[in-house]
Amino acid sequence: MATDQPHGPLLAEYLKGEQLARGRLARPTTGQAQLERLPLRCWLSGTGTPAVVDGRYGPSTVLSIGEDLVMVDTGNGCAYQLFRLGRRPEEVTHVLITHNHVDHNADLGFLILAPWIHRTQEKPPTVIGPPGTLEYVNRIFAAHDYDIRARLPHGYDPEGLSVPVIEVDDGLTLNFSGWQVSAVKVEHSPVEDAFGYVFRTAAHAVAISGDTRPSDSLIAAAQGVDVLIHEALFPGYGIPDYHTSVHDVGRVAKAANAALLVLTHLIPGHLPEEKWRDIVQRSFQGDLIVGTDLLQVCDLS
Ligand SMILES: [Zn+2]
Ligand SMILES: [Zn+2]
Repeated sequence: MATDQPHGPLLAEYLKGEQLARGRLARPTTGQAQLERLPLRCWLSGTGTPAVVDGRYGPSTVLSIGEDLVMVDTGNGCAYQLFRLGRRPEEVTHVLITHNHVDHNADLGFLILAPWIHRTQEKPPTVIGPPGTLEYVNRIFAAHDYDIRARLPHGYDPEGLSVPVIEVDDGLTLNFSGWQVSAVKVEHSPVEDAFGYVFRTAAHAVAISGDTRPSDSLIAAAQGVDVLIHEALFPGYGIPDYHTSVHDVGRVAKAANAALLVLTHLIPGHLPEEKWRDIVQRSFQGDLIVGTDLLQVCDLS
């Protein structure tokens, strides 16, 4: 179709930068919680890193807590991995981002946009993350504004992408339906705003480290957890300054009095399980899982 605009009307509108969809800051529910004895189950949907390794998708962890479905980090392929676990993106009620390294947030946009496009969601998930998360969500929508505009003639409503966003700070505890999650600032400098999360029901607790060096604040916040899902690095690979060595991760789990330690975000992703297990078991005598993709790691009730 002929047009007086050099790029056509859709692209011209997109290039103006006046995006249609926006996230919105949501008011967190904090204070005294009414925790309930809810079933709490966890799966490793992705145990990888920025390195592309066969069989390890980008980092993400799925928790089913009562009626809610929670995804922690949205690494590459997280929506597909969720599907392989028998669940769908539109079922996700809460997304938590640990920090804004691309392996952890790469597929947030797809996870939100896919159900909107397929008209299968009642409402978008609440997105919880470090300071700057609202801006990040809005930049995703800006990047995809062309697509969002192109769907208007089919009756799509950008209001359906009005994503509630909660930005966390160290120690902030958020209350949801019978469960709560606490944000714990961890040590991933030069990434200043990196967080681990501790999930609690009335009966159980699960901690997820995010990317961090051995973190005393995480050890304190995760005391006595049923499950500690922690990143790990093998000497000679990656950037040791801001990750937790396989020689230290068992000590961290022991100091946190964790019943079960689950290794994820394995740097590198191709070593045999025994290499990790042999070293960690020198300092940690609890249960140990060397994570693989799509593994269920807990079923607590
Ligand atoms: Zn990472
Ligand atoms: Zn990182």
